[in-house]
Amino acid sequence: MKNNSEKTPGLLHSVLSNHCPHCREGYLFTERNPYNLKHTMKMPETCPVCGQKFELEPGFYFGTGYVSYAMSVLFTGLCFIAYYFLVGISIYDNSIYKWLVVNGVLLIAFQPALQRLARSVWIAFFVKYDPNYKVMGV
Ligand SMILES: [Zn+2]
Repeated sequence: MKNNSEKTPGLLHSVLSNHCPHCREGYLFTERNPYNLKHTMKMPETCPVCGQKFELEPGFYFGTGYVSYAMSVLFTGLCFIAYYFLVGISIYDNSIYKWLVVNGVLLIAFQPALQRLARSVWIAFFVKYDPNYKVMGV
């Protein structure tokens, strides 16, 4: 059993940094860099630290579409607000179209990182943290 002096990694940190939701120590993907595009979505079958299965059932990650959609909408909203205050958007010129182009380019640029984050969020919905994962002897 882990003793209490060991710090438990937080849920938010574990999700944002793409770590296994079961032990919060193992990394979800085979490569650290999401922009190594050949390996962006490659995941080991099980967690290298606790042995948690990463594909809980066939097609498990189809559900990430919902998460990805919500994140893209959120990103677009934040991008609009940032563009509005930093550059300015007016209904009297073409600035809304310029923002659309900027938003599209940014969405494409961040896509590898967003896809990984969507998987990390998705698996965190279904796998709960177990501080005693080592005792379970997986
Ligand atoms: Zn793990």
